[in-house]
Amino acid sequence: MSYDDTNIFAKILRGEIPCHRVYEDADTLAFMDVMPQSKGHLLVIPKAPSRNILDADPAVLAKVMPIVQKLAVAAKDAFDADGITVTQFNEPAAGQTVYHLHFHIIPRYEGAALKPHTGAMEDHGVLAALAEQVKAAL
Ligand code: 5GP
Repeated sequence: MSYDDTNIFAKILRGEIPCHRVYEDADTLAFMDVMPQSKGHLLVIPKAPSRNILDADPAVLAKVMPIVQKLAVAAKDAFDADGITVTQFNEPAAGQTVYHLHFHIIPRYEGAALKPHTGAMEDHGVLAALAEQVKAAL
């Protein structure tokens, strides 16, 4: 399967649809997931196109992973989380629904189960406020 630049994250990267941005550099963008599995669920994406980890350039992975770590630490601080789950899905059989490589950063709270993957849409005002908390922690 090849990369299709009509996917939703390619549109976000081109500025065609909005997102609640928390971090950006020359190679990477991080923003709030619109259907969060927990309070503060973030996505980190490389700007370089690849469907997922299977076709990604190793040099791109080398640049994105330190940013995944940076955002995991910031999310833990911002939301006083008890832990952080990092997930990354490859192809439909593995649960992938958007075909531009991305890493989920999901804050975890003692005793709280995760909400369903791609479940309910969060209110945009709530996401904007959460994004500000992450930015302040960075
Ligand atoms: P995947 O299943 O591919 O690993 O995850 C895709 C993620 O993207 C899901 O968690 C879903 O909630 C999120 N998502 C889908 N559409 C949008 C969107 O338009 N904006 C944002 N910020 N997240 C999205």
